[in-house]
Formats: sequence, C-alpha cells, structure tokens
Amino acid sequence: MNQHAAPARSNSDLQLRMKVAACTLLIVREKIMNYSGHVSARLPGRDAFLIQPIDVPRSGLRPDHLLVCDYDGKILEGPEGQRAPAEVSLHGEILRARPDVNSVAHFHHDLTNSFTLVEDVPLRVVKNHAIRWKSGIPVHADPAHVANPALGRAVVGTLGPHHAMQIRAHGQVITAESVEAVLNDSIHFVENAQAMYHAAVLGKLKPLSDADIASFETYFQRGRHVNKLWRFYVESAQSEGGVPADWDI
Ligand SMILES: [Zn+2]
Repeated sequence: MNQHAAPARSNSDLQLRMKVAACTLLIVREKIMNYSGHVSARLPGRDAFLIQPIDVPRSGLRPDHLLVCDYDGKILEGPEGQRAPAEVSLHGEILRARPDVNSVAHFHHDLTNSFTLVEDVPLRVVKNHAIRWKSGIPVHADPAHVANPALGRAVVGTLGPHHAMQIRAHGQVITAESVEAVLNDSIHFVENAQAMYHAAVLGKLKPLSDADIASFETYFQRGRHVNKLWRFYVESAQSEGGVPADWDI
C-alpha cells in the first residue's frame, strides 16, 4: 500500500478526527496553544494515533489534515508531502507506554511555564479541578524538543504514572482517557497555574490539603464534568464559527 494512501474511513474514525481537530481549535481559542503544540488521539484497536502535520496552522486544523502515525512516529497515512511534528515521539512513546492514556496534549503556555523558571515555587494543586494532579506534577529537567524516541522515553520516565508534567523552560504535557478529557484537563491545568500565580501575588499560598481534595472528590463525577465542559466549549465555538457547525462532535 502507498505509504500515504488514505483508506476508507469508518464513521467513528471520522468523528475522532473531528474531535482532535476541534480540540486543537478550542485550545487555540483559549490561548493555551498558539503556533506550536499538538493534540493526539489513539486509534481504537490499532497501535497508531492521529496527530496533525508539522506545517498546518493550529488555528485552521481540519479532520483531513491529520496524519496516522505509529508509535515510532512513522507516518502510516496522511496527505502527500506532509511531515509529522518534530515532537511526534513525545506522543508516540507516551501512548506506547501508557495503555490508560488515549489522548495527549502538548503545548507551550508561558505563564504555566514560569513555575519551572524559578526555585522553590513548584506548581501545586490550588483549584478544585486540579485534584486530577494530586499525585504530583513532575518537572522534566531537559528543556530540549522531544525530537526522537530516546527523548520521548525520557519524558515517559519523568511522567511515570502521573497525568500531567512540565518540561522545564519548554511546555506542558497533559494525558487523559479521551480527547474530550484532554481538553478538560488542558483548560483546568492552565486555570490552576493562573490561579496560583494570582494568589501568590496576594499572599502566602494555601494549596489544597489532602482533606480538601477528599472533600471535593466525594461528589465529583469526572465523566459528567468532562462532558459538560466539552459541550460548553464546542457549542460556544460552533455558534461563533470557531468550529464548523456541521462537525458531529
Ligand atoms: Zn514542545
């Protein structure tokens, strides 16, 4: 088969493509991602995932732009002449190593990044929805672009069993069970960093305690919240033309 041939797509594949493209557009609308960064999604039943090409603007991503790559970052399907992002190994190695993860977002958000640029002020859980990261938010010491599989495996080692990480002086990695959840978590991760930054201006920080976290978890239903947030951002964007209204997502 031609390396870049696109086989007939099932409705579920098309919908997953729409979700990856929409998630990217929504994260850009929220000014979390700009000219670089990417969202990936594992293709069910395959050792492969969807990710955007290196040169397509994040602000104009469409389902047909997406590449299918294997965990080594090799393009299996995609538009002729397109290349994978320079950091495709970040996505491939995480998806290979973490069967609980079906979607990864990587972006370079400056304010969130600032917590890796100072000593003794690590990013903490200060907002209720940041309990997602109660196990910890590791910081990867090497600021390099995750430009090959060895660097991708090093990132996997730093991430461990956690659900997000910072790459020092570089950016963020968010992992989740679905594209909808990776949107949810990307937004809450940056909200938490912004809240901590603003609170630190006012006075001494009071991160959530274990008791605070347990209290919030008592009544929290992640699936319902993820769906609520997804619908809010999708429908807001579709009503304003930021995401095509005919995408069935
Ligand atoms: Zn990066």
